[in-house]
Amino acid sequence: MKILISNDDGYQAPGIQALANVMSSFASVVVVAPERNRSGASNALTLDKPLSVTKIDDSVYFVDGTPSDCVHIALTGLLDFTPDLILSGINQGQNMGDDTIYSGTVAAATEGYLFGIPAIAFSQVDKDWVHLDSAANFALEFIKANVNRMQAQAPYLLNINIPNRPEIKLNELKLTRLGKRHKSEPVIKSMDPRGKPIYWIGPPGNAKLAGEGTDFHAVEHGFVSVTPLQIDLTNHAHIAAFKKGWE
Ligand code: MN
Repeated sequence: MKILISNDDGYQAPGIQALANVMSSFASVVVVAPERNRSGASNALTLDKPLSVTKIDDSVYFVDGTPSDCVHIALTGLLDFTPDLILSGINQGQNMGDDTIYSGTVAAATEGYLFGIPAIAFSQVDKDWVHLDSAANFALEFIKANVNRMQAQAPYLLNINIPNRPEIKLNELKLTRLGKRHKSEPVIKSMDPRGKPIYWIGPPGNAKLAGEGTDFHAVEHGFVSVTPLQIDLTNHAHIAAFKKGWE
């Protein structure tokens, strides 16, 4: 099996290194990842400048672009093979509910999915990396146990959030739907040294729709959350609603 791994925290992040290490025991692994942290980059592709790829060794490359750039370049020009599976992460911090729209971690997986390749995004819920090994081991065991069975649904796109704790068993997971957040917190306004106003994007809102069956609920109760995603954003109810009077 050949696996392409990317992320949005940058190729030197502990999360991607841990994921690549464990997967190497199971598959042939190539890492193509951003040269620096591009968290929140969503699905952006860089269209206004050329991109350079730096080779560390035969299995690690970094790109001065976004997560989507990395996977796009890997699949359409850099690699001389088509991966069987694309992994993204392990992200430093959760990507649940509305986060998935902004997440570069989910975006790297999505780019693979758009090319028809099964893809999985992994995030660890807390940001301190204390139990990164257990998250990486869970990712490996999950793939070993399920990748053949899941092939019937290929291509698939999974968003997996892993709680921050020492040992996570393979059956401690729940298939979930995305929850929803409250509106984001306001921007934080400040002043630059020349007296010009500057703005920091504020934190996301807290979980709002987080009842049983959601990703927020699963993680809150100590489970790994596995959400199958799709890309069709069509609001089918609105097609019917707006049709009245327009046709
Ligand atoms: Mn990130």
